[in-house]
Amino acid sequence: MAELRFNPISREWVMVASHRQARPQMPKDWCPFCPGSGRVPDGGFDVLRYPNDFPALSQSPPDPDDVAGPLFRVAPAYGRCEVLLYSDRHTATLAGMADGHARKIARMWRECYADLAADPKIKYVFLFENRGDAVGVTMPHPHGQVYGYSYIPAKIQAELDGAAAYAGERGGACLYCDLLAEERRDGRRVIFENDHFTVYVPFFSPITYGAHVTARRHVRHIAEMTEGELDALGTTVRDCAGMYDALFGAAFPYMMCMYNAPTPGALRDGCGESDAGGAAAAGCGESGAGALRDGCVSHFHVKFYPPMRSADKQQFFASSETGAGAWCNPNCPEEKAGELRAAYKKYKA
Ligand SMILES: [Zn+2]
Ligand SMILES: [Zn+2]
Repeated sequence: MAELRFNPISREWVMVASHRQARPQMPKDWCPFCPGSGRVPDGGFDVLRYPNDFPALSQSPPDPDDVAGPLFRVAPAYGRCEVLLYSDRHTATLAGMADGHARKIARMWRECYADLAADPKIKYVFLFENRGDAVGVTMPHPHGQVYGYSYIPAKIQAELDGAAAYAGERGGACLYCDLLAEERRDGRRVIFENDHFTVYVPFFSPITYGAHVTARRHVRHIAEMTEGELDALGTTVRDCAGMYDALFGAAFPYMMCMYNAPTPGALRDGCGESDAGGAAAAGCGESGAGALRDGCVSHFHVKFYPPMRSADKQQFFASSETGAGAWCNPNCPEEKAGELRAAYKKYKA
């Protein structure tokens, strides 16, 4: 069974995908992503898009079960899920990849985003990577994933609303451009930067070691980047992975999430930028680097959510965080940015 069920309290869709429980236990020494498995080219590959074997969303979803009622809305689990293999080498790490390889990964991200965004029924394309046992990864072979949703997920919507409110108050200014300028001006939380991206721990970081990577130019999504920006995205994300591995001298688990604009289909339907429509429209035509275009309040960025707060201590998203959405960061962002800055230098040395 795979379907969407609507939660009218939080006004969000939930993916129910019970068929995923049927995922077989893989033999210990067998990996579907390694050449020779019969699932990927035997001759090897640099990077590879691999259809998810147990997708939560599909472009030909089954009919929802007969469980709907006046308050119980269901919808087909329409969408797309893919696995993005970073290498054919089982033990390769992103941190250890050459610049050229990191750029190929970035090109795979762009191709994948563009493909999924071209489906008018897909409203949001989410590129991400889960790494390490601590975030429940069962397959150590280096890979990311992509989900294409037929709706705007709740957290994405909340962030769009935040940026739209800001644009409305500031004559169409981009919140992310302004935050980036402030972080760079202050400097205490900046970890490293290059011509195209700045990596920093945000002023309001809710977690320990949570780095943000923000595009220096006001670019809405990955398909809008120049070749130079795309190259830099690959090596910057690679450098973040290296920085985290150098932090405690061990493979560091993380969740890496990419924030692109909602798809053209979503923007056309006025979906996802509801409040933005009016607010940003008012600001449209404003000049300056941070001015919004097409009523779109998005600015490409990446967020890392590391589940560890020290070499051997996990940071749990416990009752206050999970039940109330009230975050408590037990560490000072300026201090942790300093540690990450040192780890980055160690990695690059
Ligand atoms: Zn493998
Ligand atoms: Zn911007």
